[in-house]
Amino acid sequence: MNEDRTAIAHIELVTHRYRAVVALDNVSLEIPAGKMVGIIGPDGAGKSTLLGIIAGARRIQSGQVNVFGGDLKDAEHRRLICPRIAYMPQGLGRNLYPDLTVQENIEFFARLFEQAKEAREKRITELLDSTGLAAFRDRPDKNLSGGMRQKLGLCCALIHDPDLLILDEPTTGVDPLSRRQFWDLIGRMRGRHPGMSVLVATAYMEEAARFDHLVAMFAGFWGRKSDGHPGPKLMAQGLMILAALVEDRQLAARAAAQATFGPKRSRKPG
Ligand code: ADP
Ligand code: MG
Repeated sequence: MNEDRTAIAHIELVTHRYRAVVALDNVSLEIPAGKMVGIIGPDGAGKSTLLGIIAGARRIQSGQVNVFGGDLKDAEHRRLICPRIAYMPQGLGRNLYPDLTVQENIEFFARLFEQAKEAREKRITELLDSTGLAAFRDRPDKNLSGGMRQKLGLCCALIHDPDLLILDEPTTGVDPLSRRQFWDLIGRMRGRHPGMSVLVATAYMEEAARFDHLVAMFAGFWGRKSDGHPGPKLMAQGLMILAALVEDRQLAARAAAQATFGPKRSRKPG
């Protein structure tokens, strides 16, 4: 396999439509390897569509998508690389079974990846310890708090030690403390697996400063101009996007403090 060590994914001229809606319009970008890459943009910008495509979960309608050095349209390549990718879709706990306990949820995912019993148990213990979920092994998912469900979702995604971790709005709907803890946890996980690339979609602008590399998606942003947002906020959003494009993380974070994209989110945790 001719794998590019500097980029984990190349996307070229990718267009994706849902009937009349153009979610991705000739998008071309490169996702650097071994980095924490943030995709920032308002609701409707196309973040989830793009992540689903890179994860191999969404069919490619047009354009070229190369991940780990091969074409994702190639079924054989997809089969080979999918075990190297972990994908946590948008929506807290979407990858979990509410009636299964913490332990049962993780075991379910471990079996999917056909891990041997001993390796499986070692990995489960390691993940439960590092996320602080060990004391809640026997609690059903549906009785966990938002922050705990988010961590359980992460454990399930990480069970097979992926090279690429894709997180779609992992911190939406969890309280600020849990959000901070979540990022600390991701930092520790990366420390343990230094080559791991992490690709994250977020609508929280203040998270911009956490990433090594930023991609700003703003198709929806221009569409929202008519929603009657006050001028100064729009200016701050524009500055944010500009800062993201020139990869000035400090400027992005400062601008983010004044900008909020779209309607304020008040989704309840859990
Ligand atoms: P984001 O994750 O940035 O909010 P999405 O990729 O979810 O963006 O959506 C991009 C655009 O595509 C939006 O206008 C959204 O309404 C539309 N869209 C997304 N999924 C579907 C779908 N399954 N059917 C129809 N339209 C969709
Ligand atoms: Mg989304």
